[in-house]
Amino acid sequence: MSMSIAVTGATGQLGGLVIRHLLKKVPASEIIAVVRDVEKASALAGQGVEVRHGDYNHPESLQKAFAGVSKLLFISSPDADDTLRIVQHANVVKAARDAGVKHIAYTGYAFAEEAKLPLAHVHLATEHAIRTTNIPYTFLRNALYTELFVNEGLRASAESGTLITNAGSGIVNSATRHDLALAAATVLTEEGHENKTYNLVSNQPWTFDDLARILSEVSGKKVVHQSVSFEEEKTILIKAGVPEPFAELTAVIYDAVAKGETSKTSDDLQKLIGTLTPLKETVKQALNI
Ligand code: NAP
Repeated sequence: MSMSIAVTGATGQLGGLVIRHLLKKVPASEIIAVVRDVEKASALAGQGVEVRHGDYNHPESLQKAFAGVSKLLFISSPDADDTLRIVQHANVVKAARDAGVKHIAYTGYAFAEEAKLPLAHVHLATEHAIRTTNIPYTFLRNALYTELFVNEGLRASAESGTLITNAGSGIVNSATRHDLALAAATVLTEEGHENKTYNLVSNQPWTFDDLARILSEVSGKKVVHQSVSFEEEKTILIKAGVPEPFAELTAVIYDAVAKGETSKTSDDLQKLIGTLTPLKETVKQALNI
């Protein structure tokens, strides 16, 4: 039987990039996009990728979607309710087991055992669920995306000359979605990654002082990093029009950075993909320069 690689969350940002990388490595006929909204995947179908309906909330749809799949890239659910996410993830794992999937690669969270952010529980629970099936696995423990910090919001910092966070001098081991997607595509198309756990973080971490310096270079305007308290950051974001829950989440993430959540490095990502995208390049992309 021919090889088939299925990718869940294929209409999402990471999943879309994984498929783009996969298309450079294997024929489109070997790729299956598992999506909750088939219409949203029409461009993928146009590229010769098989599109199947699979919803994390509907186990029967998942078992059908995974029929005949050799390797599954299970991209974690974006749901905001972490308890529901564990249920959704258990649905995916059980469906993969019942469909006879041969290898599950799962996008978890870097250094999850030591993490303080509550989302780490979802990823550890999912890894344990996968282990109960005895299906060979690869745990792709992703860093926080660089794009969470480096995005078009930096334009305002370049204009005002201040990059305001509550991250202090915390170190950030983030990676771009592009690099994490390439790592996933590599694991799905190479031998030798069974039962491995990779912490896919940058081996060249940065601080917000570094980001302000790079932003100055790229924008041609002097930008300095100013670190404020948790409450001040939230208030500043809300005053700037950011919805309250998102302002809270942003301050929580900066706080975690300040407390060392993202300070650990690893060579795992570099070993899989070679040179990582430099921070300066991501800043240029964010500012469209
Ligand atoms: P994204 O763009 O939001 O993509 C999420 C994907 O999940 C979309 O394809 C979405 O489908 C699909 N999905 C949502 N609910 C589903 C359901 N009930 N059944 C089946 N599919 C469903 O997120 P991303 O940027 O690609 O990131 C991938 C995942 O990484 C996220 O889902 C989240 O678990 C995690 N994450 C990581 C970070 C990080 O910094 N490392 C940050 C944020 C999120 P639709 O296209 O139909 O909406």
